[in-house]
Amino acid sequence: MKLFDSNILKIILLIFAFAFSPEAYTQKKLKIFISVDMEGIGGVGTPKMTSSSGKDYATARQLMTDEINTVIAAIFEFGDADILVNDSHGDMQNLLHLQLDPRVSYLQSNIKPLGMVQGLDSSFDAAIFIGYHAKAGNLGGFLAHTGSGSVKGLWINALEVGEGELNALYAGALDVPVVLASGDDKFSEEFTKTVKTRTVITKTAVGSSAAKLIHPDKVKEMLKNKTIEALENLKSAKPLNISEPVTVRFKSSTTTRADVIMSIPGMKRIDGTTVEYTAKSMDEAYRLIRVMYKYISW
Ligand SMILES: [Zn+2]
Repeated sequence: MKLFDSNILKIILLIFAFAFSPEAYTQKKLKIFISVDMEGIGGVGTPKMTSSSGKDYATARQLMTDEINTVIAAIFEFGDADILVNDSHGDMQNLLHLQLDPRVSYLQSNIKPLGMVQGLDSSFDAAIFIGYHAKAGNLGGFLAHTGSGSVKGLWINALEVGEGELNALYAGALDVPVVLASGDDKFSEEFTKTVKTRTVITKTAVGSSAAKLIHPDKVKEMLKNKTIEALENLKSAKPLNISEPVTVRFKSSTTTRADVIMSIPGMKRIDGTTVEYTAKSMDEAYRLIRVMYKYISW
């Protein structure tokens, strides 16, 4: 009998090669997408704060920046990461980017066809939505709307959606789970009916234009804890299911806008203000929705 069977020797060498390879020691770098809106940021309690010409808008920008830096710090506390932050409110030029954690990439401006989900692709491990709000028509949701005031209702495959659900479906089509979302209590209640994830409630809505606030320091503490909890449970996070082709039903605030939208080939008229289109993918659906509410005006 030989002292070392050659096959056993090969196996031992393989085990050593694996044990000392860098992959065995370094955890995979996480890739996280963060979309940040403003209405649901802690400390924002008036409509004016969310408008660039309004009272205390500068404070809202600071609060928004501080919340995002808190989430980023928590992600890095968990492990090394590639993070893309997509500014998702109004003109999408809100974060004080000179104060933003330098370890992240920051996507600015609203002239982008995919708006709030621009930059998200299937290479990301998770998406986080910060500062969100309830959908158009939500009873009592703080500054509830969908895209803009020109949308009365939006349905994807017969499911009525707001910005949160729409963006979660877009992420779902890319197999990316939403692991954390924040906003007022009405947003949280509405969003978690469709998206099984954790939320941070940043304020209590008091009708559509007022909110009872939680101090921003307390909100940041909750965001930090929930971010770490979300990453600890990343393996069990489930992307939202979406079947393609995708039926988009869009209810405009005016019949004139619906008249103009009918110039898009393949568009069907449902009633005076409602149109419907079957898109081959969620990506096509999302781009079309953005064209309908943002670039077709009346
Ligand atoms: Zn917004």
